[in-house]
Amino acid sequence: MTRLDLSDILLPDTPFFITAFYQFIPITDPEKMKLQLTEKAQELGILGLIVLGTEGFNATTCCQNKDHFEAWKKYFKELFNLESLNNKDSESQLPPFLKLSIKVKPEIVTTGRTDLKLPKEKQNQNFHLSPDEWEEVLRSEKEDVVVIDTRNWYEYQLGTFNGALNPNIEKFTEFPNYFKKQNISPDKKILIFCTGGIRCEKGILELQEEGFNNVYQLEGGILNYLKEKPHQSFTGECFVFDNRVAVDQELKPTTIYKLCPHCGQPAATRLQCVRCDHEYLICESCVKIESKKDTCSKNCAFQWQLNKKKGPHQEAPYSKVIKKLKT
Ligand SMILES: [Zn+2]
Ligand SMILES: [Zn+2]
Repeated sequence: MTRLDLSDILLPDTPFFITAFYQFIPITDPEKMKLQLTEKAQELGILGLIVLGTEGFNATTCCQNKDHFEAWKKYFKELFNLESLNNKDSESQLPPFLKLSIKVKPEIVTTGRTDLKLPKEKQNQNFHLSPDEWEEVLRSEKEDVVVIDTRNWYEYQLGTFNGALNPNIEKFTEFPNYFKKQNISPDKKILIFCTGGIRCEKGILELQEEGFNNVYQLEGGILNYLKEKPHQSFTGECFVFDNRVAVDQELKPTTIYKLCPHCGQPAATRLQCVRCDHEYLICESCVKIESKKDTCSKNCAFQWQLNKKKGPHQEAPYSKVIKKLKT
């Protein structure tokens, strides 16, 4: 993890340009690549999360300087000798990330199956439907296709494609098991989707292994779809794994959800803390739990349980940065 000096980087009133991208590509020495990328990211003031592995990379990064942002995307393409990179871009007034974190992992999207390799000929060629094609299939073959959301239950809750099945899973590694239990006929046409497309790349391989060869994924995931087709077959908002929590149909940061202070799931129920009187949002699950629902943080929950005395509100690290940015 690399800590950058945020006071040098964060500028008030300037949006953050965000890009999400991945590529399955053999990387012989991910550790060496990590050093190179760290150096370049620091030079350009890039924040975010990058996962590197011998199978490729998976990243969401941001930058407030538009020129640096474009240079960063170009650098990635050149470094890995790629003709194109499927960047899913968006903007936010508040920082989606407060630091740069580059991790080397056995898998760039966790399936628990390191043996599962995406053959080169299958990359970005087969089994991908563009937002246009996806929409067309949804409309014209509605009765004949099975649409499955491969994301976790809390992502599904915020928004999904109309009529999509909800596997109700806690993490993606549970997806194959869910699928096996559905008893779907192997010749049925199956459409799967996720946030940016990477989970489905592996998902398709797992389903093909089970003998399902009529499976298609939404190219670039929901983020790519919403860019082209807002307010159509997708209803609600799209959960993202950064400080924005979710993006709306226009890919703007959500104004509905925050992360629940107790469990980290998306939260939308507004309450006032019994200890510090601070207003906060809590999730559907925690609002049902007596010991959690009354307090705005783990700290307040702990203190309140201890002595039932009022106390000052403690600013979370992210809120502190936001306040500084606004002043
Ligand atoms: Zn919660
Ligand atoms: Zn509180």
